Amino acid sequence: MMLFKSLFKKSTLECPRCLGTTFVDWDDIHRLNRTLKWAPGPCAYCLGTGRVSKEMIAQVPVDYTYLTIDLPESEMEKIKDGDEETLEKGRIHELFLDNLIKYVENQYLNNKMDAESIANLYLTTEDETALFSLERENLVQYIEKIIELKRAELN
Ligand SMILES: [Zn+2]
Repeated sequence: MMLFKSLFKKSTLECPRCLGTTFVDWDDIHRLNRTLKWAPGPCAYCLGTGRVSKEMIAQVPVDYTYLTIDLPESEMEKIKDGDEETLEKGRIHELFLDNLIKYVENQYLNNKMDAESIANLYLTTEDETALFSLERENLVQYIEKIIELKRAELN
């Protein structure tokens, strides 16, 4: 009887991203190695419920960068449904961040540039048709964070 029952009950597991707390904090971000890619906030993986289905875990990697609470809910649904176009967008987003981080680290290490100068230089190289970009102010803040981490790494 128990087995019969459990077959019908939709099985859920503790959310592996927020560990069931419904909130992604810096501990979670460090654990999943997303320091430069996420900020603390409500968990988009379990949508703030702390529980997820096995299907979800099988379908979407827990550290899938693009799936954050900043996305519209329709976009989150598409990721969970495995929509090709949305997954491609996620891939481009990840690439955009990785390239930006690499660019900043290079300029900082090789040319000893500060965040403002790197931002100015970066903006001159930016493709206007790019799918992702950052406002200057956010860009400078982001670059400062990248440099800060790099500096900590070197010390
Ligand atoms: Zn969660």
